[in-house]
Amino acid sequence: DTIGDNLARTAATWPDREALVDVPTGRRWTYARLMADVDELAYALLASGVTKGDRVGIWAVNCAEWVLVQYATARIGAIMVNINPAYRTHEVEYVLKQAGISLLFASLGHKTSDYRAMVDEVRPNCPALREAVFFGDPSWDALLTRAVPAALPDDLSCDDPVNIQYTSGTTGFPKGATLSHHNILNNGYFVGELIAYTEQDRVCLPVPFYHCFGMVMGNLAATSHGACIVIPAPSFEPRATLEAVQQERCTSLYGVPTMFIAELNLPGFADYDLSSLRTGIMAGSPCPVEVMKRVVSEMNMAEVSICYGMTETSPVSTQTRRDDDLEHRTGTVGRVLPHIEVKIVDPVTGVTQPRGTAGELCTRGYSVMLGYWDEPEKTAESVDPARWMHTGDLAVMREDGYVEIVGRIKDMIIRGGENIYPREIEEFLYAHPKIADVQVVGVPHERYGEEVLACVIPRDGADPLTLEELRAFCDGRLAHYKIPTRLQLLDAFPMTVSGKVRKVELRSRYGG
Ligand code: ATP
Ligand code: MG
Repeated sequence: DTIGDNLARTAATWPDREALVDVPTGRRWTYARLMADVDELAYALLASGVTKGDRVGIWAVNCAEWVLVQYATARIGAIMVNINPAYRTHEVEYVLKQAGISLLFASLGHKTSDYRAMVDEVRPNCPALREAVFFGDPSWDALLTRAVPAALPDDLSCDDPVNIQYTSGTTGFPKGATLSHHNILNNGYFVGELIAYTEQDRVCLPVPFYHCFGMVMGNLAATSHGACIVIPAPSFEPRATLEAVQQERCTSLYGVPTMFIAELNLPGFADYDLSSLRTGIMAGSPCPVEVMKRVVSEMNMAEVSICYGMTETSPVSTQTRRDDDLEHRTGTVGRVLPHIEVKIVDPVTGVTQPRGTAGELCTRGYSVMLGYWDEPEKTAESVDPARWMHTGDLAVMREDGYVEIVGRIKDMIIRGGENIYPREIEEFLYAHPKIADVQVVGVPHERYGEEVLACVIPRDGADPLTLEELRAFCDGRLAHYKIPTRLQLLDAFPMTVSGKVRKVELRSRYGG
């Protein structure tokens, strides 16, 4: 199937079931109406001269139109380019040029961002950009009036590129992964299959659509199983998310760990009725066991799943299953997805490691991207000639086939010759009663090369944690070289739009 054909199949099977709810504006779509609106937009794009292979940009926060654009561009074989809604003129101009975008969809504004003013500013520098269309604006209505039912292209292949998705930019400059229908539709389908989505499910998505977590594991997983997409807010807000779950009786809730932490710690959390929830996905960065346990017991998500993956692999490679026991469901990232291969190799020699030994996780299968857009050298650095994607993540495959992520190679701390994995220390510190959230990074040290810095967001109302208390808590329970020698208290971490902590920034800000 192509993505368009797959949506048409769902719409033919469940025409009257709800497909999409935009909570902030109160708008609702059944599958029949969603299909009709997607086709109308597809016709309007064809009438505007967009053809197969053309790049259509989308620079927007979450809204129903985002979903329409995702499926309409796929329907006509165009390549949708997801642009980070946090980008400003300099960055958006770079993407518009690099991807050769001819038509751009954008939010009108969000909070303090005026997208239209920014588009006006960069337009003269982007000759390929013919048209900009803003959601909730006359330019959107004007585009739709061009729609005349026409033949949709019949030469689309599931191997055609359909999407350029940027990585989160957690470790450096984001890279644009080019993905096919086959890549992301299959991945979304299997992710949904493993959490047993049916047309009865209602999936609350506070994660950004611009990132694969929202648009593949969210939108494609839902629509390939006839489930309903629920948009709680344009960008993540813990209160709006919990309200949407309650009001829309959602059965599934997504988030990166920091989102779940914010929800669990929200004043008044216990007053929300979350009894409709059964499942959900936590992914994107290490999922602390303590947080997973609270999600199971306090959010009613007995079947919550952890996924591990990356943009370049469509994204998911491993996932926990509903019938895994609590230890496997909270302490690992599950087993490898169907039709995907995983091996753990020595990062230096490339030799496959025995089970139980840490090494770089490499993955191969239908999920590996076509390549980074227009950057063959970068592609060759991460995808080897045998099509193995080298992820840059350190992992262990247990005897029983479950995978544990140890950390990113780039985040590993080397103190006086000892390798330290921040993840292990973070897991340990989450149990401290004064700590709401914690990130551990290596910062330069004259004698040891690096030392261990703990960045802590204190729990509401707790009196501030001191370094002495922190060290006393670790003393005798962690090896001495792992015990943080520095502590930084913070109100918030520097984050990517996909909700990941930018450790690079913590290091540069507090490492001096
Ligand atoms: P960039 O590549 O631009 O630095 P990024 O790697 O964060 O950013 P993404 O593709 O969004 O961009 O994220 C993939 C990475 O997220 C993985 O390589 C891994 O390090 C991390 N990750 C994803 N899921 C998990 C998980 N369940 N547990 C631990 N880490 C995870
Ligand atoms: Mg990456």
